[in-house]
Amino acid sequence: MKCSQGESFAKGELQRFGNIELSPSSGVLNYGQGLFEGLKAYRKHDGKILLFRPEENALRLRMGAERMCMPCPTVEQFVEAVKATVVANERWIPPPGKGSLYIRPLLMGSGAVLGLAPAPEYTFLIYVSPVGNYFKEGLAPINLIVETDMHRAAPGGTGAVKTIGNYAGVLKAQSAAKAKGFSDVLYLDSTYKKYLEEVSSCNVFVVKGNVISTPGIKGTILPGITRKSIIDVARSQGFEVEERMVAVDELLDADEVFCTGTAVVVSPVGSITYLDKRVSYGSDGVGRVSQQLYSTLTSLQMGLTEDKMGWITQL
Ligand code: PMP
Repeated sequence: MKCSQGESFAKGELQRFGNIELSPSSGVLNYGQGLFEGLKAYRKHDGKILLFRPEENALRLRMGAERMCMPCPTVEQFVEAVKATVVANERWIPPPGKGSLYIRPLLMGSGAVLGLAPAPEYTFLIYVSPVGNYFKEGLAPINLIVETDMHRAAPGGTGAVKTIGNYAGVLKAQSAAKAKGFSDVLYLDSTYKKYLEEVSSCNVFVVKGNVISTPGIKGTILPGITRKSIIDVARSQGFEVEERMVAVDELLDADEVFCTGTAVVVSPVGSITYLDKRVSYGSDGVGRVSQQLYSTLTSLQMGLTEDKMGWITQL
């Protein structure tokens, strides 16, 4: 779908996957005017296709578009386009339990613009790719390192929207962490440098007894759809969930730590290294709460349990 600045998107069309043409002076290439989303389609045992909360991705894209001065498809247009793309690619959806179809919507300033300004024209497209289950043989813990020099986002910046540049900015810290054998980086806030923010592409939760704490949404972390869903699921299972500033020191006496995101759903954290300290969680790093929340959400997403929350769109 294409549209000009100040106008609305019209109905799109299906096209074979391939390279696209882009002006060298397009807004996205020169000024980073780009946003993306990520969601998954699962195949249910009866053959039906399931989408998990696609309207939430549409709303997040719209919030991002407002921040980045871009026109955006409506929630209805977004969801219809996702459905049409998934149906057209039905043969790529793995069988039940064998993975999912990852869906990547992209919105970009595709029009040419030389001086700094919003691009005159925009393109919205969706591509898909089959992906296996993130955890092949049960949950496996990840090992994180707290990043103390580089930050992912600053107050008033674009940390809360899924804009492409945010991801280029984390590559350096992430590569350094991986080179040292860590799975990923846990970022701190850029003001006090002592409160947890998030991992490169996941939100973070800290468990202590019956209380699960997670950094609140204040403009510097991405409002994850899995995060929001896990908060509701945990509360419905009797946990107390606090959205607040979580100090890095709280990691020291936590019972469990886990991350959430579309790719991993819930990922237990086995250890966290902060300055010269390394804290490990549990004997095998897979805490009871992480396991329970992972099972509940994945069963729902795959259509194995009743959708009491009304989160599933069935195609
Ligand atoms: N934080 C960041 C920076 C992310 O890129 C993602 C992945 N979209 C998340 C958190 C988790 O969000 P979601 O649960 O919507 O996938």
